[in-house]
Amino acid sequence: MRIEVLGVGFDNLTMDEAVDRGMALLRSDGPHYVVTPNPEIVEVCREHPEAARAVNGADLVLADGVGVVMGARMLGTPLKEKVPGIEFAARLMEKMAEEGLSLYLLGAKPGVAEAAGAKLAAKYPGLKIAGTHDGYFQEDGPIVEAIRRSGADAAFICLGAPKQELWMLRNAAATGARLLCGLGGSLDVFAGTVKRAPKFWSDHGLEWFYRLCKEPRRIGRMMKLPLFLVHIRQEKKRNGK
Ligand code: UDP
Repeated sequence: MRIEVLGVGFDNLTMDEAVDRGMALLRSDGPHYVVTPNPEIVEVCREHPEAARAVNGADLVLADGVGVVMGARMLGTPLKEKVPGIEFAARLMEKMAEEGLSLYLLGAKPGVAEAAGAKLAAKYPGLKIAGTHDGYFQEDGPIVEAIRRSGADAAFICLGAPKQELWMLRNAAATGARLLCGLGGSLDVFAGTVKRAPKFWSDHGLEWFYRLCKEPRRIGRMMKLPLFLVHIRQEKKRNGK
């Protein structure tokens, strides 16, 4: 059963359990897709029913950051731990490499997915990069076809939210991949064009603050965070907790 946080149902899993579940999905007939919502995406889902449908329709819904974990705890239905999408992806690639599985990388600015592919292939020997494409395309059709032709077992769809969730809802089946994962800005990190917050910041639940300092233009989006906490408080009152 999923734990609901403001209309989004999260799978209550540790990182290890999530990776095992991801691999099980990858080994069984697809299509399956994974989403990793943070508070900002939960707020987007409240405003856009179609985004909520795409997120809740996923086979695996992971709590991307400390905000969601905090929200669930405040509502009296705690989640085991945060399962950041990018760490989930790294762990999944480790396992995929052991089994010689193949991965398609879709998203980010031209050249980034390709650079990420080269780095990942070097980091995870055994992992096959089935193909790459940037995230700035007009039509889904040729991209879906490219993934299908590549024969990829899995695909990382990194177009930002909720674009990637809607894309996976529309196209997962036609790609032929058994597992698709919506992973936001992860390709930029894998390619080395964007750095993740040092461990100290994420250990203290402050990764969002680090990102804000590095990319101040994110302030508009991040205003959704306080809104999320306000909505959690309201929901808590409504539940009489
Ligand atoms: N992006 C894309 N196509 C688009 C819009 C965005 O490929 O039409 C990419 C963008 O280049 C970036 C990622 O999607 O690599 C979104 O990153 P962001 O940090 O905004 O996502 P988050 O991780 O916060 O969801």
